[in-house]
Amino acid sequence: MLAHTAALPSFSIVRMGGRARPAKRSQSQRSNAGFGGGRKEQLWHCVEGCGACCKLNKGPSFATPDEIFDDPSDVQLYRSMVGPDGWCIHYEKSTRRCSIYSERPYFCRVEPDVFETLYGISKKKFNKEACSCRDTIKAIYGPHSKELDNFNCALRS
Ligand code: SF4
Ligand code: SF4
Repeated sequence: MLAHTAALPSFSIVRMGGRARPAKRSQSQRSNAGFGGGRKEQLWHCVEGCGACCKLNKGPSFATPDEIFDDPSDVQLYRSMVGPDGWCIHYEKSTRRCSIYSERPYFCRVEPDVFETLYGISKKKFNKEACSCRDTIKAIYGPHSKELDNFNCALRS
C-alpha cells in the first residue's frame, strides 16, 4: 500500500503548523472535531522519496511516545528506534527507504486498523487523518519543499 517508508504520521495528535499536541482523544472528542467538512475528500497516498514520518524525534510540537502509546513496550520499542539525529535507525537516508519495511512495527503502518487502535480514529476518518502527514512533511522538509509538492501532487492525482 505504501511507498517504502511510513511511520506515525502527524495526525491530529501532533499537528505541526501551530497545532497543539493533545495526545489521544477522549471518546467524546473522537467525533468530527478538527476535520474540515464540505470539501471533496482527497485520497491519501504515501509517496516515494519522502520518509518525513521516519524522523521519530520531531521536536516539542509533536507528541511524545508516552503520549502516543498505552503499552510501555511500544514506548520502549519506539525509543529504541530513535537515532542520535532523531531519525529512525532503520531509515536509509541515501535511498529514503525503510530497511526493515516488511517487518516494520505495527505503529509504522499507516492503516485504518492502526489508526483506530492507536488514536481512536474511525475507519471512515482514516483517509483524512492520513492526509495530515502533510504537516509532518512541512515540518521536516519545509513548506516550500519538493517533498511537500510531491505529496500534494500525489493527492491530487
Ligand atoms: S510523511 Fe506521509 S508521505 Fe511521507 S513517508 Fe510518511 S506517510 Fe509517506
Ligand atoms: S521502522 Fe523506521 S524507517 Fe521503517 S517505517 Fe518505521 S520509522 Fe520508518
